[in-house]
Amino acid sequence: MRIVMLGAPGSGKGTQAKQLEAAYGLPQVSTGDLLRKAVADQTELGLKAKAAMDAGDLVSDDIVLGMIKDRIAMDDAGNGFILDGYPRNRQQAEDLAVVFGGIGVELDVAVLMDVSTDVLMKRLTGRRTCSLTGKLLNIYFSPQEELDACTNDGGELQQRKDDNEKTIANRLQVYERETEPLIAYYRDAGLLKTVSAEGPVDDVYSRLVTTLGID
Ligand code: AMP
Repeated sequence: MRIVMLGAPGSGKGTQAKQLEAAYGLPQVSTGDLLRKAVADQTELGLKAKAAMDAGDLVSDDIVLGMIKDRIAMDDAGNGFILDGYPRNRQQAEDLAVVFGGIGVELDVAVLMDVSTDVLMKRLTGRRTCSLTGKLLNIYFSPQEELDACTNDGGELQQRKDDNEKTIANRLQVYERETEPLIAYYRDAGLLKTVSAEGPVDDVYSRLVTTLGID
């Protein structure tokens, strides 16, 4: 199954994609994660992408297209994958259609993770990653025992560099301007499904698998 996860920053695309990956063996292909790794490794691509990422702007379409092409050509993506954070504008959606056409595969579904702006702000400003386990947590929503478990084991609750209020505001504007039009794009293609993505992670997940018809 080839899935595009659509939704604003903080709508839970990454969290839900990770759960789908664990349950169904479909790799989560996150352009944000790939870019953060490139920045951390100080690759040439990472150095090019860093300024745009720090500001909450989109990295160039060519850079992310190259990354996506390489990633979905890997063996583990042969039976499908979950695109998380790609495509993010009309050009990328068209590029993706060309890549799929070139390898003779089709997109099955674009799932919109639907969340109000209030909830998005709390999810983004409260988001942390445990430095030991890589687990995604939130200081507003995660159970205190889970937050404590990370720090008690000697880990740190790390905040993403672009999860500060100024960058968040820009990322949400970029989403509205560049990415939201893809909702109509995929609706017109007959591929759009919408999931209410508010509330506990597990509730969202069960609505997601029901919507995808894989429960
Ligand atoms: P994310 O982890 O998906 O929120 O992405 C973090 C940042 O990486 C974004 O704010 C962009 O700067 C960059 N990024 C991720 N995916 C894309 C994409 N498909 N196109 C352009 N920039 C991207």
